[in-house]
Amino acid sequence: MNSVPETITLIGAGLNGPLLAILLRQRGFAVEVYERRPDMRRVRVNAGRSINLALSARGIHALQRAGLWERMRSIVIPMRGRMMHSPSGELTFQPYGQNETEVINSISRAELNIALMNAAEEQGATIHFNQRCTGYDLKTGAIRLREEKMRKETTRQSAVLIGCDGSASAIRTEMLKLNRFDFSQQHLGHGYKELTIPAGAHGEHLLETHALHIWPRGNLMLIALPNIDGTFACILFLPFEGIESFARLTTPEQLLGFFQSHFSDAAQLMPQLTENYFANPTGTMVTVKCSPWHVDGKALLLGDAAHAIVPFFGQGINCGFEDCTALIDLIDQHGCDWARVFSEFESQRKVNTDSIAHMAVENFSEMRDRVADSHFLFRKKVELALEQRYPKLFIPKYAMVTFHRVPYAVALARGTVQDRLLEELCDSIHRIDDLDWSKADQLIHRNLTPLEIPQ
Ligand SMILES: Cc1cc2nc3c(=O)[nH]c(=O)nc-3n(C[C@H](O)[C@H](O)[C@H](O)COP(=O)(O)OP(=O)(O)OC[C@H]3O[C@@H](n4cnc5c(N)ncnc54)[C@H](O)[C@@H]3O)c2cc1C
Repeated sequence: MNSVPETITLIGAGLNGPLLAILLRQRGFAVEVYERRPDMRRVRVNAGRSINLALSARGIHALQRAGLWERMRSIVIPMRGRMMHSPSGELTFQPYGQNETEVINSISRAELNIALMNAAEEQGATIHFNQRCTGYDLKTGAIRLREEKMRKETTRQSAVLIGCDGSASAIRTEMLKLNRFDFSQQHLGHGYKELTIPAGAHGEHLLETHALHIWPRGNLMLIALPNIDGTFACILFLPFEGIESFARLTTPEQLLGFFQSHFSDAAQLMPQLTENYFANPTGTMVTVKCSPWHVDGKALLLGDAAHAIVPFFGQGINCGFEDCTALIDLIDQHGCDWARVFSEFESQRKVNTDSIAHMAVENFSEMRDRVADSHFLFRKKVELALEQRYPKLFIPKYAMVTFHRVPYAVALARGTVQDRLLEELCDSIHRIDDLDWSKADQLIHRNLTPLEIPQ
């Protein structure tokens, strides 16, 4: 590393900004963060910002590198599998992994954000709140900022800028001016709404605690993730338009009738359903791709600013945190040769972020539809059985993405081959006992090589 600490400016104190600030401070850089929102530790967060996130291997690894995971353990709830709720209220539990260590962890976005900002400040980063970045001069490196309360405009000079400002990034908007800048954004026809299942009379969870609850209904879906205070953070996914859509749920009567016919067991646990539904905004979901992610050695996009994905693989922040550690590894390797660091960062990461973007969209139909299908659930059991017998060769795609840090592009490629093998093996059977193990042996050895799993 170069001995003279440089100042690095970050835009956005969401989830990636503060984690990156910590990792940079640990390497001696001065870090200034500009965030458009007020400080959520002092001002109540807006309705509609209480989503829970599922943290898994990549996110945990990054938090461990920052020395934060042990601190976070007290605010996460491990979820061991999916609990499917049928229309008649029957429950089916499907474990995510092989054992109790293969879990995903429910954490409140706000709690995580607060813990990261606290740690970033403890490490010596400065976070400036109510400072919206309104522009960035790609030639001179001047950042335009507007103080949100007084509407006062200022300019700051920055030698190195990293845009961690989320899916609607202002820095990326400036980069649209670059010659040959590629950009695409694709919105889903579905939106989402946050709802809540309150805790029971004694602060207990009213549904199984250690599960991600899913009400899969074809084109509609409700999910619920546990919180440490006994509540569940729920998300309703619906098309924006159509017969059963947000556009058609405009009165309390319509809403209650809709919940009674699709999610009646959940509705009984939601005394504030109408208030929550009409108070919270309807969110949109978008896949964003762009390139390049950097301007010479001056500016870089990271996290959702570079590659927003839809939430159905629960990987957005896990992927963003993996960005942070990948960038740090390159800084450790090349020091402040920013042009090289940024360019290697993009070539390493983009193929992987494109892959998880693809898998996240694919997983939408799996979650809202296929998890209710008995043949699909049977295939999941076969996957786990194959993994037990061939632990180095056959690792389910979900596990490669969630429990291991196998590069996303490798998980996608191997997952596609494995899906084909599963199709052949499960096509005409319905019981594990009927699995043709000699055919499985042949297919697996012929099509898969041992997988290298990063530790
Ligand atoms: C419904 C839903 C469920 C999700 N579930 C999961 C999950 O289970 N697991 C998972 O890993 N991921 C999940 N995600 C994805 C995850 O939330 C994102 O990937 C993650 O928040 C991205 O972090 P970020 O720091 O890049 O962006 P953000 O968290 O969006 O932070 C960006 C920050 O920049 C600030 N900002 C924006 N513009 C400006 C500006 N012009 N000037 C200054 N500041 C600015 C914003 O106020 C914000 O604080 C989910 C997302 C959604 C929508």
